[in-house]
Amino acid sequence: MDALTRSVMDAVDSGWERQVRHLQALVRQPSVLGQEAGAQRLMSALFDEMGLDVAAFEPDIGAISPLRGFSPPEWSYRNRPNVVGIWRSPAGGGRSLVLNGHVDVVSPEPVSRWRHDPWGAEIENGRLYGRGACDMKSGVSAMAWAVRAIQAAGVRLKGDVILQSVIEEECTGNGTLACLARGYLGDGCLIAEPFHDRALVAQLGVLWCRLKVRGVAAHVQGANQAVNAIEKTYVLIRAMRELEAQLNDAKHPAYRSHPWPINFNPGVIRGGDWPSNVPADCELDFRMAFYPGTRIEDAKAMVRGHLLAAAERDTWLKKNPPEITFYGFHAEGATMDFQESPVIQVLTDAYHRVTGRVLQPGIATATTDARFFSLYYGVPVTCFGAQGSGMHGVDEYVEVETVREVTKVVAAFVLDWCGVAEP
Ligand SMILES: [Zn+2]
Repeated sequence: MDALTRSVMDAVDSGWERQVRHLQALVRQPSVLGQEAGAQRLMSALFDEMGLDVAAFEPDIGAISPLRGFSPPEWSYRNRPNVVGIWRSPAGGGRSLVLNGHVDVVSPEPVSRWRHDPWGAEIENGRLYGRGACDMKSGVSAMAWAVRAIQAAGVRLKGDVILQSVIEEECTGNGTLACLARGYLGDGCLIAEPFHDRALVAQLGVLWCRLKVRGVAAHVQGANQAVNAIEKTYVLIRAMRELEAQLNDAKHPAYRSHPWPINFNPGVIRGGDWPSNVPADCELDFRMAFYPGTRIEDAKAMVRGHLLAAAERDTWLKKNPPEITFYGFHAEGATMDFQESPVIQVLTDAYHRVTGRVLQPGIATATTDARFFSLYYGVPVTCFGAQGSGMHGVDEYVEVETVREVTKVVAAFVLDWCGVAEP
């Protein structure tokens, strides 16, 4: 490792205690959908301290809804800002870089099953616990502290660094889309999602869908004349399980090694209000995955066609087909070339220089905001980050020392990607 990189690594170590305190403060912000403002204030304050050009703005539905990759939300963006901080290079002559991360987190429920407070950020045996600790407040904090270490070492870069702290990654991706629509672009992008020891090379497409199924209400005594909407919803759940199995049989090349990449998830169900009444209505919100290379309209047509074909085979549903609405995630799948991607090449070198290990390719059975950069803006991108567990489950944690390592790798990556200006 050269002296300059060494001085930046030392700066990561010198700032480490403050970085951990910042990450803890960030994890203590309960930044579920609609409540991201507190976490964004912390990111904005950090960007200010770093002397960046800071902009905070709410996604503008009117501006982004015509764009490819847009997902229709059922909620507002009021008081839910993205925060962007730009470190401009006066020198110029290097490549610019976007470092992107999301502060929104999924619900911590069922909280009663946690051993740790999901908003407590307790550290125990080297693990920092909390909703979002791993996915991905560890990353959004690390990318900022990596840049801060470069500054602290007195290094100046040849390319601009654009730090994006976004909302909505867990439901639409519209936070990142709004950043790109406003022109916050770069020659490459790294997203510090928790893919430890791996660079992301494939992610699935994801759709959210709501079914409204009607039945015929009755007292349970007359149930033979009634139609139970919850049971009819089950007909459609079984149909989606068939589609899931079909897609898992027909493997995409990037997922050949994965036993079951495509997951259908009935996530929310609402139906009935009394044990002795036959429920007349049932609503199901589900998530369905599909492979990269399928356009969003084709994925929606596939799901709709499959559900309606199943309805055709049921005497009641044939005459009373479900209402099908797609909302939230309209996320297409994406792939990156592990050998050819300039971002992955530079990351591979930086990772080896810092850790002595060889970076491996990683595949995701979910989506990330990486898709916007590669699919719609032609910006090479990958995800790489810390190690942990319990994402979207209970007792989420991040291994704290892996966050330090990721901070160093990201810092080394930034030096190589942007280039160092002569003093
Ligand atoms: Zn994430």
